[in-house]
Amino acid sequence: MADRLGSKNNRVVVAGGSLAGLFSALLLRKIGWNVDVFERIPAGLAGRGAGIVTHPELWAALHRTGAVWDPATLGVPVVGRLVLSREGDIVGERAYPQTMTSWGRLYSILRAALPDQHYHSGRTLAEISSSGSRATAHLENGDEIVCDLLIGADGVYSTVRRQFLPAVQPIYAGYVAWRGLVEERDLSPETWNMLGDRLAFCLPPGEQMLGYPVAGANDDVSPGRRRYNFVWYRPASEAGDLQLLLTDRHGKHHQPSIPPQLIRDELIAEIREDASRLLAPHFAEVVHRTERPFIQPVFDVETPTMSFQRVVLVGDAAFVARPHLGMGVTKAAGDAIALSSALEENSGDCDAAIARFDRSRCEFGTAAVARARHLGAYMQAQLKSPSERAWAEQHRTADAVMTETATPHGILPTGAKTASAWSNA
Ligand SMILES: Cc1cc2nc3c(=O)[nH]c(=O)nc-3n(C[C@H](O)[C@H](O)[C@H](O)COP(=O)(O)OP(=O)(O)OC[C@H]3O[C@@H](n4cnc5c(N)ncnc54)[C@H](O)[C@@H]3O)c2cc1C
Repeated sequence: MADRLGSKNNRVVVAGGSLAGLFSALLLRKIGWNVDVFERIPAGLAGRGAGIVTHPELWAALHRTGAVWDPATLGVPVVGRLVLSREGDIVGERAYPQTMTSWGRLYSILRAALPDQHYHSGRTLAEISSSGSRATAHLENGDEIVCDLLIGADGVYSTVRRQFLPAVQPIYAGYVAWRGLVEERDLSPETWNMLGDRLAFCLPPGEQMLGYPVAGANDDVSPGRRRYNFVWYRPASEAGDLQLLLTDRHGKHHQPSIPPQLIRDELIAEIREDASRLLAPHFAEVVHRTERPFIQPVFDVETPTMSFQRVVLVGDAAFVARPHLGMGVTKAAGDAIALSSALEENSGDCDAAIARFDRSRCEFGTAAVARARHLGAYMQAQLKSPSERAWAEQHRTADAVMTETATPHGILPTGAKTASAWSNA
């Protein structure tokens, strides 16, 4: 018989207290569920991450959580996009207003909305047992928590996914993102005037540089106190260049990513030289003046299913689309909305609700991964098929890059303007 759910006694364990975990926790609390979040990292996460492109769907999702924030301080508005040539001339321009925020800003807004007694830092999920309408979270310290629903929001290397889908592994895309943040005051007025109110690109052969302004320290968005965020996609073969990039000065190899402070100085000197050679002077200045650029290898993750009885996956634990869509956080919010809507609307039948969530979000995640893969195809050192090569050519032009990068075009249901549109996707 279907299990009846929807009362305050229904207990949810969320493994992972980053953005997907917080969106899920807040939205399930809104429909009356009793939620606890367990996050492996002991201290607050607020210092992590860099810039995040927002979409109307992300704003709608934030509203839906009940979190309180001042829209004027969510991020830095940009008016559109532009593409610069190697010489620094504008070779493409397009109006496209967006707000650029940061991972830390979103985290602080969401975290403040969840009462402290329901957020448990320094608690790691080790294993799950699941049977019928219950799941049990086994934490590393030996605690066991029985729940009606366990949400794996534990990111790209998800423990939850590994247990249920051991064959699904992140697949390296063949290139890395060099990223960094530089203070507005450290850039020349010429560079800030060119870059400071747009999402800007430069397209060296086989690579892509992009950047945009974000809030500065303490979420300050006032002129002079903002920062500039860059992402420079560069091919790096898995067996060769990637290994070198992830090896520190003592010869120790770090997998899957290297802590920023351990990146070898000569690698940073090298990308600065390359920036002068390959990028528009404005972007070269950004790279030169960034104190500690860091590296993020780019991966695809795709799962065939997001649910296993009373265990579900959300966010990067389920699907990771390459960052060209700028949709990772929006997708995580969409997963949380779809789950809470399905549970609310099918409160008499939890299994049916989970099945509905799984169907709609697997479809969305699969579409997002496929689209992002095409957008990034020309950065891959080795293109896999003639059709990918054909796509790659389409996405190499200034116009295509401006139209397709960091937009929900082709992924969200046509005309979707509000978060509620996703839950029925
Ligand atoms: C280069 C780059 C650029 C990006 N740009 C954008 C952008 O512009 N816009 C956008 O929307 N997205 C962007 N993203 C993607 C975005 O950062 C992620 O999609 C998003 O943060 C997903 O969050 P998550 O909560 O699913 O996973 P994560 O943020 O990885 O969180 C997982 C959490 O689970 C915890 N955890 C792991 N294992 C356990 C365990 N066993 N027990 C307890 N806790 C555990 C971890 O400590 C972590 O806090 C970008 C990503 C990259 C790499």
